[in-house]
Amino acid sequence: MKIPELVLPAGNLEKLKTAVLFGADTVYLGGKEFSLRAYADNFTLEEIAMGLAFVRQYNKKVYVTVNILAHNRDLQQTPSYLEKLEEIQVDGLIVSDPGIIKLAQRYAPSIPLTLSTQANVSNYEAAAFYRDLGVKRIVLARELSLEEIQEIKQKVDIEIEMFIHGAMCVSYSGRCLLSHYMTGRSANYGACAHPCRYRYALVEEKRPGQYYPIEEDERGSYILNSRDLCLLEYVPRLMDMGIESFKVEGRMKSPLYVASVASVYRQAIDRYTTYREDFSANELNSWTEELTKTATRPFTNGFIEGESSLLQDINKEEKQERAEFCGIVRGYRSDKNMLKVEQRANFGPGDPLQLMVPGANILPLDLQELFDEELNLIDRARHPRQTVYIPYPESISEYTILRRG
Ligand code: SF4
Repeated sequence: MKIPELVLPAGNLEKLKTAVLFGADTVYLGGKEFSLRAYADNFTLEEIAMGLAFVRQYNKKVYVTVNILAHNRDLQQTPSYLEKLEEIQVDGLIVSDPGIIKLAQRYAPSIPLTLSTQANVSNYEAAAFYRDLGVKRIVLARELSLEEIQEIKQKVDIEIEMFIHGAMCVSYSGRCLLSHYMTGRSANYGACAHPCRYRYALVEEKRPGQYYPIEEDERGSYILNSRDLCLLEYVPRLMDMGIESFKVEGRMKSPLYVASVASVYRQAIDRYTTYREDFSANELNSWTEELTKTATRPFTNGFIEGESSLLQDINKEEKQERAEFCGIVRGYRSDKNMLKVEQRANFGPGDPLQLMVPGANILPLDLQELFDEELNLIDRARHPRQTVYIPYPESISEYTILRRG
């Protein structure tokens, strides 16, 4: 049986390392030089090279997104950027624009091409078209059912990657101008700010400041309000179908999200590879509970059962108990038996804390005392990115995540 590649997003070097340590086979990332705007959650070429050096230690891979819908002005800098990516030998390029595909084949000829979901491949003729163009793998449109995916897989000899987890567009896979219009960040340049998830209200022209909710019941608005995709329970069927790669959305999500999603899908893939049995209800419940802790929206299985299931599940009641990302373990002081932690949210003794250790262990942490960098006793870790020390009997892996709840 083919074991699918688990592909996680990496918004920065920290998330790249977190994804790999928590179970990703591959990370995908965007380059600062090419995105035209220097978003925090993008990599310089130097950082891409650093990321590559890190993943190589674990025999993992880095794909770089060059999946903008390019305008003429973008084409001038494309060849030199592609040449640099060829030079540092990234493992794959994710492309969608036919012009960029042509340039990638000319200026980065040794790097395999993955067709982005933004190309919206939704039928086998389109898949065959891109195969004949020399593309190695296709990320299918998210709007396909299991039967449609299976038919494409059977009819076309090309690697298939599909989204199994993360945000869904209310438009067709990212072909949308809403984010560009509202925030200046274009989805078509890989920088969507997800305004289709903002809370919207109605205002009558002559009553400024009076907001009328757009909603159908007390659970909120169903206009521009997509749930997040979660195909965890479909992992066995998708593996049986021979899907080569499972992709997770969310380059702008936190390291906690990356760690949690990577860890759950790693366990699910490994479990099915070993036992070839459907997951038990207990397994599914505990993995889903874990995923729910870091999700931003309730889940949907999207279009996988056909379009009608999308209409039905808006009525499902779900409770969401979120975990909060409090810090990252940066080392261990063996002379004092203390973990060195970089703070990410206010925490202190008495909080219900847990340590998420790479390798799928979640350990309760009974925090009695907390110390600052000079080892003075403090009551809370209050300051952003503050270094604090936590008494702990043994060293644990760097990039272990401290979370609350
Ligand atoms: S705003 Fe929403 S629909 Fe538009 S690209 Fe972003 S996630 Fe997709």
